Amino acid sequence: MLNKKSIDDINVKGKRVLVRCDFNVPMMNGEITDVNRLVQALPTIKKLIADGGKVILCSHLGKPKGEPKPELSLAPVAVRLAELLAQPVVFASDDTVVGENAKAAVAAMKDGDVVLLQNTRYRVEETKNVEAFSKDLASLADIFVNDAFGTAHRAHCSNVGITNFVEDSVVGYLMQKEIDFLGNAVNNPVRPFVAILGGAKVSDKLAVIDNLLDKVDTLIIGGGMAYTFLKAQGYEIGLSLLDAEKMDYCLDMMKKAKEKGVSLLLPIDTVVAQEFKNDTPFKTVGLGEIEADWEGLDIGEKTREIFVNAVKDAKTVVWNGPMGVSEFDNFAKGTLAVAEALAKIEGTTIIGGGDSAAAVNKLGYGDKMTHISTGGGASLEFLEGKVLPGVAAANDK
Ligand code: AMP
Repeated sequence: MLNKKSIDDINVKGKRVLVRCDFNVPMMNGEITDVNRLVQALPTIKKLIADGGKVILCSHLGKPKGEPKPELSLAPVAVRLAELLAQPVVFASDDTVVGENAKAAVAAMKDGDVVLLQNTRYRVEETKNVEAFSKDLASLADIFVNDAFGTAHRAHCSNVGITNFVEDSVVGYLMQKEIDFLGNAVNNPVRPFVAILGGAKVSDKLAVIDNLLDKVDTLIIGGGMAYTFLKAQGYEIGLSLLDAEKMDYCLDMMKKAKEKGVSLLLPIDTVVAQEFKNDTPFKTVGLGEIEADWEGLDIGEKTREIFVNAVKDAKTVVWNGPMGVSEFDNFAKGTLAVAEALAKIEGTTIIGGGDSAAAVNKLGYGDKMTHISTGGGASLEFLEGKVLPGVAAANDK
């Protein structure tokens, strides 16, 4: 079990604390359209303020690819954060992230003050984990706190490199929550333990299927990735998504499930259409009945019933990836049925991945889930059993 030092284990009074947050918020015309990520960061920031730290925040936003892009400036984040914290947040607007503004702002800080640095990905070194930028960041701080789970599967300057040049590196509350929920689900699940995987590509989730088969009682596979399993068994899938090179792998996984006594559930009917859009005629067909110029875009009604039944008595459920093209209302029914089923169960429900989280929130079931992970890719790699560099870089207790 991971036992990382957290902000509860350190004394930050009078110290300069650099916090790597995930302020990668959706923006439209310079306005933040969803403040959820800012709200989630508040407990850690408030704790550090209350403890008398000098709180320096940093994050990436979008993909400026190493160049200053005004539309990806974190300036609007500073404004909203100040409102949410009900105290000033000084924005250090340096295109080099650690420039004259940042240095002066940090030098002027009193205990409990907050400074926000510019988008870390304005610096080309950030995503390459180049020492120069890690050292620049570290020059502003005594202690480093990582609270950005969404980037924990990547080794960048602002979450991994910096830890080599500061006194101490610990995790924040948000990161701790992710480690606890995901770690417990995988290592100590209350049974029955059911995993539900969906989404577009088998290849993205290969390793996780293999790893989960060692742990779960039931594995449900829906969404675009299911058709490769169906084709591998000889069923016609028309124009549905296919990962042709992965068919043997799918058969291996089915064999492994059988050997392990894991119930592997695949769709038995499919909602098909001839065009990839919402407003197009659709119908439901059975296994092997997808005609040549039709494409499977959602699980059918019978499959919905089977999947819903399979999670009904579960005590731990991990879900990643939609059951169909959930962005289109006509093909979102499978995803919605699963979301509804999870909202009803009494066990622990953990949602990873943007699309499944969006479906859960759209239905208003967000607060019925035990944990909605802030990291799609990171949560998948965690479930695969991989060591996440951003987590590993924090010091142990
Ligand atoms: P992922 O990023 O792998 O979780 O995939 C999410 C995407 O999978 C969403 O954009 C869905 O629209 C897409 N998806 C799910 N089911 C299907 C399907 N049957 N055909 C095509 N795309 C799908």
